[in-house]
Amino acid sequence: MQKFSFRDKLTGLLTREGFQSHLMAAQDSSRQGSLVVVWFNLDNFKMFNKRFGFEQGDNILREIAGLLAKIFRGELIARFSDDNFVVLTEWTSVEMNIENLQEYLYSAHENIALRLRAGIYFPSEGDDIRVSCDRAKLACDSIRKNHSLNSCMFHEGMSRELALQQHILDNLESAINRKHIRVFYQPIVRISSGKICEIEALARWFDPELGFISPNEFINTLEHYMEIHKLDIHALKQVCSDYASRIKKGLPLIPVSINLSRLDFELCDIYSELEDALELCRVPPELIRIEITESINDEDMTLLNLGIEKFRARGHEVWMDDFGSGYSSLNVLKDYNFDTIKFDMKFLHGFDINKSEKAKYIISSNLQMARLMGMQALAEGVETIEQLEYLRSIGFDKAQGYYFGKPMGLDEIFSLERGIE
Ligand code: C2E
Ligand code: MG
Ligand code: MG
Repeated sequence: MQKFSFRDKLTGLLTREGFQSHLMAAQDSSRQGSLVVVWFNLDNFKMFNKRFGFEQGDNILREIAGLLAKIFRGELIARFSDDNFVVLTEWTSVEMNIENLQEYLYSAHENIALRLRAGIYFPSEGDDIRVSCDRAKLACDSIRKNHSLNSCMFHEGMSRELALQQHILDNLESAINRKHIRVFYQPIVRISSGKICEIEALARWFDPELGFISPNEFINTLEHYMEIHKLDIHALKQVCSDYASRIKKGLPLIPVSINLSRLDFELCDIYSELEDALELCRVPPELIRIEITESINDEDMTLLNLGIEKFRARGHEVWMDDFGSGYSSLNVLKDYNFDTIKFDMKFLHGFDINKSEKAKYIISSNLQMARLMGMQALAEGVETIEQLEYLRSIGFDKAQGYYFGKPMGLDEIFSLERGIE
């Protein structure tokens, strides 16, 4: 009996298995060395479904399938999953065909800006087709945030990236168990007193093989592969145990903010994880603030909102992280209750506040808005006294950045000259 279906029910294209089974025939000797693998993915397809409904979503997938079949007539074309399509085709015409396809989609849907990204991989002799597809996908993913490019050719740098991602996924659990992932703390200063009023817990991965792995790298990978909750649970337990050891010694404490991914609310019961850890270590909930980054999208609104309210009811402040780094900032402020807004460091670094009047208007009017909504304002990435003085002059409450200190061990915080509030 046939184990897999070779035809995709929705679009009539080949499935992933169908693609593989037809591969030999498609790669006949006359075409060897002239074929490329192209991976297509539609931007924000989940959002599209949410906005227009699944029926419209299905229609778009069928439309794309039809266009692929027309433009890449006679080639091997498959829908691998969701909005992921793969084509095996001649390299000589591939770029022109991709452009035609994208232009057609643009003009057919002028008011919804549909972007179909493409990643291209030129297989070397002996490359496994699965590896070739992964590489085409990697090229496609690499331009997810780059809106000036609609297609991209795979290059070796991406392969290193893939290897790093694989290393992160393969080693996450052992790195947690062997304490290669630790938590450091960065001071947050109340501008009016100049003293440390809170700290932020930030994960650090010191890998025996690769050295220091940047949080931006492992956080993105773990989010992408839905493993982020494992890191976040580890980080919150680490914070609780660091605090417990100071409590045991009768040493002073200070409120700490922990970073949670919006995905944690879907992937585990992050509320119970935190509360259990706090209870076990006898740490009062008021000491823990929750930071959630603003790239929250509409999809998980109910779940996230419930989570936020639960944390607040238990006595935790909830902060919005990286405000201004994405395009949904204002909506997020409208839809969720936050106690503090952390202004992304782009606000300070992106433009020279001494030279640009416009920059000042942007910062101060956003600050004003936070005020009107009853939220405190914290500026991230403060590196100079001039930046600090400017923030003071317009009335920011708190500041954080290398000017006050980089992330460090918990005990070090308490020996800083600046002092604790
Ligand atoms: P974030 O929460 O916005 O944290 C601030 C980041 O800015 C930290 O980078 C910090 O080291 C860096 N930073 C602080 N002051 C300055 C400054 O004056 N100048 C510059 N150039 N950078 C400064 P880090 O530790 O690399 O973390 C990057 C991001 O990774 C964090 O951004 C946070 O979103 C995420 N992250 C870190 N730890 C965790 C974690 O345990 N769980 C989750 N979910 N995310 C985490
Ligand atoms: Mg943060
Ligand atoms: Mg931040």
